[in-house]
Amino acid sequence: MPRPAPPPPSPVQRATLEVLGAGTGRPTFPSELKDRLRSDLEDGLAPLVENLAVDECLVVSKHLLGQVHSCQVRLLAEDDGDFNPSVPIARGTISHKAIELGIHWPHEPYPLDLVDEAMARVSEGDHWLTEFLQTCSEAERAELRATAGDRVSKFFECFPPLQPKWRPVTESSLWIDLVAKRVTLKGKVDLTLGAARGNEAGKVIIDLKTGSPRVGHRDDLRFYALLDTLRIGVPPRLIASFYLDTGIAEVEPVTEALLDATVARTVDGAVQIAELRAGTRAPIHRPAHQCRWCPVLSTCDVGRRWLADEDIPVPQPDEA
Ligand code: SF4
Repeated sequence: MPRPAPPPPSPVQRATLEVLGAGTGRPTFPSELKDRLRSDLEDGLAPLVENLAVDECLVVSKHLLGQVHSCQVRLLAEDDGDFNPSVPIARGTISHKAIELGIHWPHEPYPLDLVDEAMARVSEGDHWLTEFLQTCSEAERAELRATAGDRVSKFFECFPPLQPKWRPVTESSLWIDLVAKRVTLKGKVDLTLGAARGNEAGKVIIDLKTGSPRVGHRDDLRFYALLDTLRIGVPPRLIASFYLDTGIAEVEPVTEALLDATVARTVDGAVQIAELRAGTRAPIHRPAHQCRWCPVLSTCDVGRRWLADEDIPVPQPDEA
């Protein structure tokens, strides 16, 4: 049975379509771009192998790159297993899963139904959140349901129903092996729309965010643009951080210069990660707002002092 016609878009949905649409044109990129970027990465990453164990492969994600370019002490602490899932950490995963379900739902999705379904699927699976969902308190479940439901509602308020001709893809994994499989770059994109035509860029890569914009959000998307270029040979047309709390997308066109800068940041970060883990580089404290949720805050004088200087309350253990 054919689907009923979607309702007319609201003002915020029209604004979303406008900013993500192809009004700014579709640039064309040279066919050799993919090989050049790959060669630059291979050359830059090859020396880090000396800091890996014989059978070790370094897996580099946007999260790890973000960490090494911020607080390196926290990176090593989380490597040691000092990572405890909590409601603020879980809500991103649950809401993304719920949005993914909602985009493909056969009828108009109700946000809390999607969240319940997402929580059920993750609770039953083999996921890093499974244990947390199976053992958390009723209050934590209720808080998770409420905060994830808020994100999901906002997504469907801001985005019109995504038509198949826009080629919507959710939670798409990207995986690039380099240096004879000793280094892997990986990522998972929240949402993509569109596709390349020949050497003409057409895809938009979208990261869904809550809270206020941060510089790191743009770096995350640039990393995804690089991975997608290495995969299909044509860069995305646009990268966009979509801020659900404000209904505004911050977009950036993808250029060769942007991809070159991302290669340099990726190489620099990966080399430092390998050195930190091998103990050949001393980690640097870089305190910031994120100290509030750091697993080693209780023993980190640098982070506690920074929060005190900024007048930011230190959370109690059951508040983290
Ligand atoms: S509390 Fe802050 S400065 Fe200390 S390790 Fe954690 S993130 Fe780094």
